[in-house]
Amino acid sequence: MEQRNEKAQRARTGALSRRSLLRAAALLAAGALGTGAARASRAEARLPQDQVSYQNAPKGDKRCKDCVNFEGQNSCRVVAGTISPDGWCRLWNARRLG
Ligand code: SF4
Repeated sequence: MEQRNEKAQRARTGALSRRSLLRAAALLAAGALGTGAARASRAEARLPQDQVSYQNAPKGDKRCKDCVNFEGQNSCRVVAGTISPDGWCRLWNARRLG
């Protein structure tokens, strides 16, 4: 009976170890996929320029480079496509200075 319990214990421990390893591998894979998926999802979630009245010129003294959504490198967090630092759209929101 005791030998049977030891065998069952070993089987459980081994199963848990394998399970833990598989779970860790799955989490790592999900994390890697999640990062790529999240990036792709953010890119798809950006609004088309025509829906936000984007223009390549400033509106008064409001420019993309002074907007909280401007990411630099001609990119915006919320609007798709190439964004000029001197552009503007209806979602303009002043970047806090200092
Ligand atoms: S003004 Fe519009 S397009 Fe320009 S950075 Fe801000 S949100 Fe993006």
